[in-house]
Amino acid sequence: STDHTPQTTQHFTVDVAFPSLLFFAGARRTKKTWPVSFSQDELRKRLTPKQYHITQERGTESAFTGEFTDHKDEGTYTCVVCGAPLFSSNTKFDSGSGWPSFFDLLKEESVTLTDDFSYGMHRVETTCSQCGAHLGHLFDDGPRPTGKRYCINSGSLAFQPKDTAPSASSSTAEGGAASGSVTDGKTEL
Ligand SMILES: [Zn+2]
Repeated sequence: STDHTPQTTQHFTVDVAFPSLLFFAGARRTKKTWPVSFSQDELRKRLTPKQYHITQERGTESAFTGEFTDHKDEGTYTCVVCGAPLFSSNTKFDSGSGWPSFFDLLKEESVTLTDDFSYGMHRVETTCSQCGAHLGHLFDDGPRPTGKRYCINSGSLAFQPKDTAPSASSSTAEGGAASGSVTDGKTEL
């Protein structure tokens, strides 16, 4: 609640072995601030180590290990850090990549795209526009109609099941069969 941590000085407490991280931290993120920020302390407590590593240190989970890779329920995938809605289950598809894959966004502005030249490749990094959490990457080999493939770490996502209709309907439909013995004189209206 007293988080004062300036977003611009995200401390990558990691890996001097990864100079690219330091490079990006210094060169790329300096001007970027996000509408929502959390203290790193809070996030370390609230997130699993894996979620923290992926979202805050731009990590990648191993293929086929994420909880949402083969997840097929209907609903909305949100940012695990800030809760912003990011993807609909309607646009999720089986890419065979081992990571949850979507061919579109819920809202274009919900995800920020940035060039990522780490590991000697050029990729497009996807980041939560609200809090700056690393999500994954965007590729151009997705299915129609967009041709896009948002390749997202399960560890960056939370899932909100589709709001099902109030289950009260079942009680009005069923008669007094079960309650007959107790409430003999009562009739249904
Ligand atoms: Zn977020």
